[in-house]
Amino acid sequence: MYSIGIDIGGSKIAAGVIGEDLNLIRKKSLPFPHTGNPLDSIETIRTLIRGLISECNLKEEDAACIGLAVPGSIDYDRGVVINAYNLDYHDFPLCQYIGESFPGIKVYVENDANAAALAEYYCGAFRGCSSGLLITIGTGIGGGLMLDGKLFVGGKKNGFEFGHAVLLFGGEPCTCGQRGCIESYCSAAALVREGRKAASEHHESAMYVNAQGDLTKINAKLVMDSAREGDQVASEVYQRFTDYLGATACTAIALFDPEIIAFGGGVSNDGEFLLAPIREYARKYAFFKNHAKIVTAEMKNDAGIVGAAMLYLQR
Ligand SMILES: [Zn+2]
Repeated sequence: MYSIGIDIGGSKIAAGVIGEDLNLIRKKSLPFPHTGNPLDSIETIRTLIRGLISECNLKEEDAACIGLAVPGSIDYDRGVVINAYNLDYHDFPLCQYIGESFPGIKVYVENDANAAALAEYYCGAFRGCSSGLLITIGTGIGGGLMLDGKLFVGGKKNGFEFGHAVLLFGGEPCTCGQRGCIESYCSAAALVREGRKAASEHHESAMYVNAQGDLTKINAKLVMDSAREGDQVASEVYQRFTDYLGATACTAIALFDPEIIAFGGGVSNDGEFLLAPIREYARKYAFFKNHAKIVTAEMKNDAGIVGAAMLYLQR
């Protein structure tokens, strides 16, 4: 038995075969065809699946599922992508299109952040835990929640938008139209915004100097590097950022009492430089002290493929 996971992103479509022992046996990818016709991407997905099946000498009847992860909102009972703006999928019957070409195989679709949480649960940081929260720090805040061994999907099965829970009432505007969301303080974009603001007021800071006075050159890495090197202005910005993440972890701990919270995304590549201050905050302020382990996510770039391939174990 095997399953196939497809991670459909705005730049590329990545596909992989997962074996019975949950190992990623083979993967391949193709660019997402931005032709204006989303049906062209269906052809790309079919090509990838057929390629994997033939290269690995697999039989269609041995497949547990084809799982599809998309960056958008889905109706998974109908197998329809409601909106995935980067892919130009709107009310798009993705599972039906793929299923027509592989009639013997079950086809499932899931939001990519939820798929990533499933990947951590079956193959990554959450192994051995029944409840875990994944928080992915990117331009926005993504994430997924495993509760008592089940992926939390909610009433309309749209999943989990923890990034749009309010952290600071009346705070910074968020892309969702609300103010003060977790995303507007804990995302990499928020760190950049605060770094640029501080640098514009403190030309003596290492951020301003390293960017040669060009604020647009200040990215999350530059803020973090400057803080690590001891620059006072960058350190203050970074301390506030990790405090916001700590408060977010405490909110999650009070709501769900997870056994583990894993942080993913580029900002988390620094490991302890990010985790230590969040742990310290949680040690002081979490309602349930020392319940949740705070770690980095393990699945990295394969999270979407692996999580999508695991969908048959949850449906
Ligand atoms: Zn929001």
